[in-house]
Amino acid sequence: MSLNEMYREIVLEHSKQPRNYGKLENADCHGEGFNPLCGDQISVDLKLDPTRKKLNDIRFTGKGCSICMASASMMTEEVQGTDLTKALKTIQDFRDVMQGIQDPEIFETDVSALSGVRQFPVRIKCALLAWTTLKEAVEKCSTDYSK
Ligand code: ZN
Repeated sequence: MSLNEMYREIVLEHSKQPRNYGKLENADCHGEGFNPLCGDQISVDLKLDPTRKKLNDIRFTGKGCSICMASASMMTEEVQGTDLTKALKTIQDFRDVMQGIQDPEIFETDVSALSGVRQFPVRIKCALLAWTTLKEAVEKCSTDYSK
């Protein structure tokens, strides 16, 4: 099996069985994302720990192409239980990987499989959607905290 085929298998598997799919009751913050180029829609719910610095739980819902759904699934696994600062850093790392500035190997998880999408520039937005939506949700949380 070539690396490309392996990547495709991983992406398909996540899109068929997305992890952390669903809504959170009493979410602390929420983000909505839409990719008009493809029609992908993602919403993200976050629950914070009492210090409001760490993600206690993350869920997403939405509909979109397999790249979008797989990316959202991998994203939730990647940041589940991490600090908000770490989550923001991970989002930046992922953007850098998709823009070819970073090596996909910095992700030692299924996320690296999304680097295959870089061969199809129009699909990069599909892969990024969940991550930019998460960023928006995290920034909302941080703003609420400073009030
Ligand atoms: Zn898409």
